[in-house]
Amino acid sequence: MKFYSLNSQAQKVPFKEAVIAGIAPDKGLYFPEFIEPLPDSFFERIEELSNTEIAFNAIHQFVSDDIPNDKLKEILTKILDFDFPVVEIEDNVATLELFHGPTMAFKDVGARFMAHCLGYFSEGENSQVTVLVATSGDTGGAVANGFLGVDGVKVVILYPSGKVSDIQERQLTTLGQNITALRVDGTFDDCQKMVKAAFLDKDLLAHMKLTSANSINVARWLPQLFYFLFAYKQAKSKGKEIVFSVPSGNFGNICAGIVAQKLGMPVKHFVAATNINDTVPEFMKTGEYRPKASSATISNAMDVGDPSNFVRIRHLYQDDFELLGKNLSSYSFSDAETKKALSHIHKTSGYLADPHGAVGYLGLKKYQENNPNNYGIFLETAHPVKFLPVVRKALGIVPEIPPQIQKVMDKEKKSIPIKVYDELKRYLLGR
Ligand SMILES: *Cc1c(COP(=O)(O)O)cnc(C)c1O
Repeated sequence: MKFYSLNSQAQKVPFKEAVIAGIAPDKGLYFPEFIEPLPDSFFERIEELSNTEIAFNAIHQFVSDDIPNDKLKEILTKILDFDFPVVEIEDNVATLELFHGPTMAFKDVGARFMAHCLGYFSEGENSQVTVLVATSGDTGGAVANGFLGVDGVKVVILYPSGKVSDIQERQLTTLGQNITALRVDGTFDDCQKMVKAAFLDKDLLAHMKLTSANSINVARWLPQLFYFLFAYKQAKSKGKEIVFSVPSGNFGNICAGIVAQKLGMPVKHFVAATNINDTVPEFMKTGEYRPKASSATISNAMDVGDPSNFVRIRHLYQDDFELLGKNLSSYSFSDAETKKALSHIHKTSGYLADPHGAVGYLGLKKYQENNPNNYGIFLETAHPVKFLPVVRKALGIVPEIPPQIQKVMDKEKKSIPIKVYDELKRYLLGR
């Protein structure tokens, strides 16, 4: 299996090269040259398989021989060492909890998978890979945790000073070892601009191997398809067609869900639920893609005005707008609606959602209004405790702090302040 760039499709590279480079030389996103459906028997007896077996069957064709089967199984066993429960909260409405990992964000699985792949690829090599990543909050913690202690890989995280939550800042500044946090005097956009500048800096690239750990990287993007298979395994016995509602920002997670469907998993429909950053809901109405500057919301991990993975979704449907519309709906919701949903969910079912999950819930309910008679699953992408002030205000209760979070609460935060790109470059070059 090879991967081509969505910009040219001419040059194909193996999995290993796509992971190490992150993005193609022509700046296109890498995409698998084909998606071979899994045999019907896989879905017929999925409930007899362990999560690791499911994951191995699903990802093996993409990794091919770049990682030996035994090693790949070992990696999958390590990264899937927690639960992914489907919790029913109403008739025909359930949530898939993706927050039981080490940083309580759904990004844990992708970040850990990528870390283990890079770690494996750099074994026996004497050159080091530097992973450079900008975060608006959750990516940084998941990446820091996933890459902690991985030999041959150095991680540099840029985050906007004063604009991430206290818990999020602790998750990325207290680990040490091969992880360094740079505190940027600016916004998330400034962080991202500096990262982009680094990837285009030929002088810098002549001195070091640099890669990104955002969902553009296939090793972070593809493992997310496991979630949908794990949910299918649990919901299959309901005997109804399944609808997934995915709270979306960069659209990597939902795109991976569509890949699971291409693998043959029965799904009736996908709903991409967004906050007021409605570039995709607008596209689904008009057929015109108009990126915008992002607006800040209470579901901040989805504050994206130009979702990087949406080109992959369009490609999966050969850019056929009608075909896409048959399988995907997209709705946008305001902060006021999100807060109301948080409180409605809590009142009617006692369930404590987070703001991202609440947006997913709203998307599902909106779809089910006109399309009843299916089993709806919305994804809970983060633990509510990570958005403590919002949850406290909407519900008047303080969720208990779980042990994963408690662990970082009294460690010392360490970060290096920077303001301009030159400071980043000097740091990376060790000058
Ligand atoms: C990253 C993130 C999202 C958005 O996922 P995408 O794959 O970028 O669409 C949603 N919720 C939470 C909590 C996140 O951290």
